[in-house]
Amino acid sequence: MSLTLINPADETVITEIDEFDVPRTDAAIARAAVAQKLWARLAPAGRAAALRRFADVVDAHVEELALLEVRNSGHPVSQARWEAGHVRDVLEYYAAAPERLFGKQIPVAGGLDLTFAEPLGVVGIITPWNFPMTIASWGFAPALAAGNAVVLKPAEWTPLTSLRLAALALEAGLPEGLFTVLPGRGPVVGERLVTNPTVRKVVFTGSTVTGKRVMAGCAEQVKRVTLELGGKSANIVFADSDLEKAAATAPYGVFENAGQDCCARSRILVERSVYERFMELLEPAVAGVKVGDPLDEATEMGPLVARGHYEKVASYVPDDAPVAFRGQAPSGPGFWFPPTVLTPGRTDRSATEEIFGPVVTVLPFDDEADAIGLANATDYGLSGSIWTRDLSRAVRMARAVESGNLSVNSHSSVRYSTPFGGFKQSGLGRELGPDAPLAFTETKNVFLAIDE
Ligand code: NAD
Repeated sequence: MSLTLINPADETVITEIDEFDVPRTDAAIARAAVAQKLWARLAPAGRAAALRRFADVVDAHVEELALLEVRNSGHPVSQARWEAGHVRDVLEYYAAAPERLFGKQIPVAGGLDLTFAEPLGVVGIITPWNFPMTIASWGFAPALAAGNAVVLKPAEWTPLTSLRLAALALEAGLPEGLFTVLPGRGPVVGERLVTNPTVRKVVFTGSTVTGKRVMAGCAEQVKRVTLELGGKSANIVFADSDLEKAAATAPYGVFENAGQDCCARSRILVERSVYERFMELLEPAVAGVKVGDPLDEATEMGPLVARGHYEKVASYVPDDAPVAFRGQAPSGPGFWFPPTVLTPGRTDRSATEEIFGPVVTVLPFDDEADAIGLANATDYGLSGSIWTRDLSRAVRMARAVESGNLSVNSHSSVRYSTPFGGFKQSGLGRELGPDAPLAFTETKNVFLAIDE
């Protein structure tokens, strides 16, 4: 069996990839378990140096990785370069962790009490297709730093950069079997990472529906699990904000990566008194988003990832959809979908469900309480933005919105040095930031009796 990979910008076949089945998955997990024991016994400085070499090799291949992502996923080349550089940065950041995995010495009677951060063993990582290499690195870099081995299953449509990263890890001198990428189907390879008892933790990023299934499967073995799931985040614009800036940046808060971003601010909520003015400012901003050839340096938005996904996104914009205005998109081959602004009712499907494409809804709100109610009227809680010049209101809103990652007067949300993850059904646990390696360890407490 093999996976056929399609370039989403022109629908040409890129290549065929051999799929892993359950026996090959089990064999890779068994090899990872052997490699992990040796890796964990290395001196912390040795593991740190190996990860720094891995970062250096990635750095030397940023352009190659970026071009691979352009072909496989349709990301604009400038964005793909950022992603490859981000993988290097994540590795560099966590290369510092092996020598800083501190335990505690706790004062007790009769002896000495110490804690150790022990590695879990083999960690399984299951990634989605929207940001294949960056999301992979958020799992494998801190997991390896904490002394674990990693088996990683990339999404069916986009395995190429993950496969290349595993080859670069070997080139950098990481031991054979320590970091393996297993391309294959979710219900086969992904499911086996959940059921194989040698895998001690699963890090899953993908849809909330599949995440619930993974969590239920992990419960069978009380397997550790981190979930990074969907979102329907709010971009809340108050009348006292810098309205020009809020409108100019709103398209980039949702249409980046063609809206295939779990952090997409796909619901714009605007204070009613400035709603008309905001829409006047938003229209040229949406028209200005440069959609086209991913290899063009000026391109800001590429195609959707696959035909099947295109059809799902299009189902949210039927002929009678309340379209306020749309941007441009190329015609001809490729899964092109123009940036689209809808003005539906509050309970319309487009205003409540994750679309994961370049479609944004705009709704008016009355006051702070109404904005909070509207922002929180969802099972999701991943990111969001608040636009206001009133510092007290910014803090009140940031505390009231039920979401893991909020930004005030900007749309930033992911930095490798700060924690990332969701409230409610957007996820469980956190990735990135200084504590991420601890999520790949067990705390062991050891008491040593001392003769007085
Ligand atoms: P998906 O759930 O269909 O697939 C994700 C991964 O799970 C793929 O590798 C897939 O092969 C695998 N999988 C499928 N069935 C499985 C099973 N039964 N057992 C184990 N693994 C299985 O999601 P997708 O369509 O690839 O990604 C889009 C979704 O991911 C969106 O909902 C988006 O919001 C979410 N996402 C979340 C984050 C985050 O950090 N919160 C980041 C990116 C994407």
